[in-house]
Amino acid sequence: MKRLFVIAALVCAGPLSAEVRVSTDFEGGSAKVESVDAGAKVVRFIPGGDPQRGWVCWWHLRLDGVPAGEHWTLDLGGSDRPTRNNGVDTDAPLAATWAQPDSATFSSDGQTWKLTEPGVREGKRIRYEVVGDGGPIRIAWGPPFGSREVESLCSATKQKLPSVEVIELAQSREGRPVRGLHVHESKAEKPLGLWVQARQHAWESGSSWVAHGFTEWVVSDAPEARRLRETTEIFIVPIMDVDRVATGDGGKEANPRDHNRDWTAEPVYPEVAAAQARLLALVKDGRLKLFLDLHNPAPGDKHPFFFVGPEELLSPEGKVKRAQFMEQAFAHLTGPLAAEKRLRTTGASYHPLFRQISGMWVDANGNPDTVAACLETSWNTPHSTTAGYRDVGQKLAQAAAAYLKHR
Ligand SMILES: [Zn+2]
Repeated sequence: MKRLFVIAALVCAGPLSAEVRVSTDFEGGSAKVESVDAGAKVVRFIPGGDPQRGWVCWWHLRLDGVPAGEHWTLDLGGSDRPTRNNGVDTDAPLAATWAQPDSATFSSDGQTWKLTEPGVREGKRIRYEVVGDGGPIRIAWGPPFGSREVESLCSATKQKLPSVEVIELAQSREGRPVRGLHVHESKAEKPLGLWVQARQHAWESGSSWVAHGFTEWVVSDAPEARRLRETTEIFIVPIMDVDRVATGDGGKEANPRDHNRDWTAEPVYPEVAAAQARLLALVKDGRLKLFLDLHNPAPGDKHPFFFVGPEELLSPEGKVKRAQFMEQAFAHLTGPLAAEKRLRTTGASYHPLFRQISGMWVDANGNPDTVAACLETSWNTPHSTTAGYRDVGQKLAQAAAAYLKHR
């Protein structure tokens, strides 16, 4: 929902009035504003997403006109619209907690994102406080990562390592470019294949920041990163579902299909079809070694964890390789966002369509020694910041390099 709310804050001492405006008319903007109380300095709102375009977790709004030093409260409730789940419409909204991190994320320049003080919960609502500095205040569920951030990641990466290619993986259903980075310095006859993607679920902005950190390390001057590039061809896609990211929707459980339940023989999303085609080309050469899909989990998941397919569906070699990769991942992801040292396994009890999850598709269509894993990085902790997510991405890349070194 894109609306512009304007309110005149009356100043008792005179006719001059400060004007506080709340807006969401920008890429990724989302909020349904219930009221703006200039006297109490409170904006009441709920996330603005359309449940047909995914779980209504994400919100991002901008306040203009808050005078320097003035405290404003953002009072957030859950979406009031019935959600979809397991691929069908339900008659109840999503639990509000999915949209309510303990601390919201805010910025005064649109570049540097910080956490607010922990909000105050009351019933199904939470109140966050921000302080004006005279300029616009952006406040969101988590650090935003949209097309602008993709552009700056691509240009910074190319500047660091000119041989990196910026690819257009696909045009989305709604005609937006799905961009990725292709690192192909290896002179090996058959370089190892490494694929990393984030943001199949649009609201999970933290996963794109993990991909950002992964990319930074891969193109760095670290000797292990150089060695990785000598042996391995790497693809990184920081945003898969560009459409729901652009419109500020959640993506998960969207109609007609959850992006991460689209990994079938007939995907509806062009970027899934394009990813499958590139992955199958690596499989044909027998060199798809590692596939990593990046997500953010549930509000109560305070430690990152790996989601993988049932072990019984792997080849004997695949089981061994997965255990070896996980050993490296656990050794590297030591914190502050430290990974749980046990795997969570997806299967029919997790979701009726579990076989259409990307990692399951890779398990079924990869080489016998391909390792596929999904990393769920916690979003509701004091370390769930751009720096915290990037740190996870760098460590995940180090783990991938350490694993692939012995391949
Ligand atoms: Zn997800």
